[in-house]
Amino acid sequence: SIPLSFFAGIGGASKAGVLVKGSNYLENLSKTKILVFDKTGTLTKGVFEVNGIHHSEMENAKLIEYAALAESASSHPISKSLQKAYGKEIDRSRVSDIREISGNGVIAKVDGVEVAAGNDKLMDHLGIRYIPCHSVGTIIHMAIDGKYAGHIVISDIEKPHSREAIRALRAAGVQKSVMLTGDAKKVADKVAADLGIDQVYSELLPADKVEKVEELLKTKPEKSRLAFVGDGINDAPVLRRADIGIAMGAMGSDAAIEAADIVLMDDDPLKISKAIRISRKCLRIVY
Ligand code: ADP
Ligand code: MG
Repeated sequence: SIPLSFFAGIGGASKAGVLVKGSNYLENLSKTKILVFDKTGTLTKGVFEVNGIHHSEMENAKLIEYAALAESASSHPISKSLQKAYGKEIDRSRVSDIREISGNGVIAKVDGVEVAAGNDKLMDHLGIRYIPCHSVGTIIHMAIDGKYAGHIVISDIEKPHSREAIRALRAAGVQKSVMLTGDAKKVADKVAADLGIDQVYSELLPADKVEKVEELLKTKPEKSRLAFVGDGINDAPVLRRADIGIAMGAMGSDAAIEAADIVLMDDDPLKISKAIRISRKCLRIVY
């Protein structure tokens, strides 16, 4: 039988906006020593603004239009942001043959012409020569009809509590914080330095994130636990692989929420240390 105080713990956590799917997760949480974070949508807002457009072969507004149309079927934060930058209703009849390549970008036909929008890896994959971008930001290279058409630089902002969340976790006994991201190294390094994250791995594909978590699981202190926090569809396998999977509940994908053991109802990373404290308190009552 489940000790009564576990119910109190789960109830207390839920009052704090942390949904715990079972009492065993509460116990695991109390032993967390390594906290692994996804970046976009977890530590940052996942709401990108356009910072600049470079080497465009057409009017900037036209390039944004192609990007927004090609991205129209994607639920990635990048796609949502490009559609907001376009600002007009998407005419879906202009778009066909959509392919989303996770961790790379999208390819679709717009007005019957092939449009690719994504990172260096996507361009390499298509064999398209691109002009490297030196700005700190997430780079969306565009290729239209197999020819390079310029790039859009977008950037995201850190969540207001992220820095405090990392500090609070250390105070709650978490020994190491790690950030995993598919985004560019320059962006990742800057966010990690700003937030005081101990280790950062960038330009990862979704499968690389699972591999990194497996490596990190081998380094954890005896009897301790590793937790992963993420928000995206791509994060579901990592959420399952970690000892504890924590998902963002408000802006997170259904797949992430489903795969997680714990859900943060308001997407606030500061709630993780709060949940750890609640779990410790409730375990002290049990044992
Ligand atoms: P994160 O680890 O930050 O959650 P993802 O794995 O979702 O990132 O994506 C990694 C990178 O792949 C992005 O930074 C971007 O360069 C590229 N990418 C992914 N999806 C898209 C998309 N829909 N449009 C353009 N680029 C994308
Ligand atoms: Mg993400």
